[in-house]
Amino acid sequence: MKKWFAAVLLVALVLTGCGPKQPEAHEAQLFAMDTLMSLRIWGDEALVTQTEDTLRSLEALLSATAEDSDIARLNRDGTAELQPQTADLLQQALDCAARTGGAFDPTVYPLVCLWGFPSGKYHIPTEAELTGALAHTGVQHLQLDGAAAALDAGCSVDLGGIAKGYAAEQCAHQLEETGAQAAMLSLGGNVQTVGSKPDGTAWQVGIADPKDPSSAIAVVRFTGSKALVTSGDYQRYFEQDGVRYHHILDPQTGRPVQNGLRSVTILADSGTLADGLSTALFVMGLERATEFWRASSDFEAVFITEDGTICATEGAAALLTDCTFTELTR
Ligand code: ADP
Ligand code: MG
Repeated sequence: MKKWFAAVLLVALVLTGCGPKQPEAHEAQLFAMDTLMSLRIWGDEALVTQTEDTLRSLEALLSATAEDSDIARLNRDGTAELQPQTADLLQQALDCAARTGGAFDPTVYPLVCLWGFPSGKYHIPTEAELTGALAHTGVQHLQLDGAAAALDAGCSVDLGGIAKGYAAEQCAHQLEETGAQAAMLSLGGNVQTVGSKPDGTAWQVGIADPKDPSSAIAVVRFTGSKALVTSGDYQRYFEQDGVRYHHILDPQTGRPVQNGLRSVTILADSGTLADGLSTALFVMGLERATEFWRASSDFEAVFITEDGTICATEGAAALLTDCTFTELTR
């Protein structure tokens, strides 16, 4: 009888895990920057509050719709003295615009508003309205000199295509500096990992199926700190007369991009770069984006086209599982 009891106890101990104990992750969800964010952080519980505070303070600086943000003041007054982080991100947005030949354009806000995305009062613009807004779009209308920013009359800035990646990157640096063991931050379509998963397994991040965004069409497996950012036509849109009008605009035409792509996922060390490029490469379309990747060495990409084909650049292909795909080579 005693022996039997000992055996049961042993089994129970094995089941409850006598091996090296894995630390628990602290989890939290919040709504900020107009999206649902979820945080998983291994380390002191206070790191969760710290990260939430950082996200809220960046939202208060960077959001075009928050009443007194740096960007809202710049858009309202035409000039503004920016906080260091806003100036830093605006400069990186301008660098991204230069590097992508204007496919990424932080001055698209007049167009974004014309289509009604910030208010949700959607509207299909007339040619005259588009021409008017296009005349107020383009980085030549924005001057940034250190912390001093100035806009031409009628122009406005929108960092919505890059701010979440920047926020994730800032939080990741802060978590590294304050001793987090590991973290996975998911800010809308932006995922940022910090360190390696304490149980020794790889990070696994699903790429949403554009036809059914609640399920994954592919899974990316990797270790270490990385950013993985997706831009897609299914993230924000409205439909009228059977046509889908989504939120990524071609700065050349002022209209939602229509080039056969449904989503672009960028993998990079920098969250800011990944976010800016996810928007830019979506605008470029598969062919131009592939050429752009061939001329670059700081990111990898996964493209999903309208017919459901998945194309992955060499470095991304090595990490892609649970799908069939075409590999893009250098
Ligand atoms: P999400 O914000 O859904 O993660 P993106 O990173 O692609 O997706 O950003 C899209 C947002 O960026 C739009 O909602 C708009 O505010 C802004 N935007 C739209 N077109 C462009 C563009 N060509 N360049 C820069 N920003 C853009
Ligand atoms: Mg983006």
